[in-house]
Amino acid sequence: MFGLVKGLSVTLKNMTKPKVTYRYPDEPLKMPERFRGIQYFDPEKCIVCNQCVRICPTDCISLTGKKNPDPDQKGKVIDTFDINFEICILCDLCTEVCPTEAVVMTNNFELATYSRDNLYKDRQWLEENNTNVRQENTRHPLPKKRTGAKKG
Ligand code: SF4
Ligand code: SF4
Repeated sequence: MFGLVKGLSVTLKNMTKPKVTYRYPDEPLKMPERFRGIQYFDPEKCIVCNQCVRICPTDCISLTGKKNPDPDQKGKVIDTFDINFEICILCDLCTEVCPTEAVVMTNNFELATYSRDNLYKDRQWLEENNTNVRQENTRHPLPKKRTGAKKG
């Protein structure tokens, strides 16, 4: 009998407290700032430097570039860009190292699927993953470009 009263008192006490649960997935979860979610990719910004591929600890990024079709422009443009989310650990290194912020983390995390093949995300999918993109991407702001520096 004492146990029943004790249990009911706990229930009654907690009924008046604010809820700590969410109605997920009906209500989207608000993730903290600098949450490491699925990357957004902007092909226009990519200079095909391969730094993201080189730093990736799980080798889950693959990309190819091609010669810039504009004869007045030097360098390459991106052709294909894929991330294998079977093995991506969302460590953030690719976005930290990218010199142009072509690849940036988002607050999106929903990747549940019935097929492993669906975890290969290509350039188009990553480009369309353009919601909740992290605004402050670099932890340490890049140094400002020096202008008019004279050679000693
Ligand atoms: S978040 Fe980490 S594991 Fe995932 S693609 Fe970037 S560097 Fe690779
Ligand atoms: S580091 Fe950035 S600019 Fe360089 S290849 Fe990767 S996404 Fe493109």
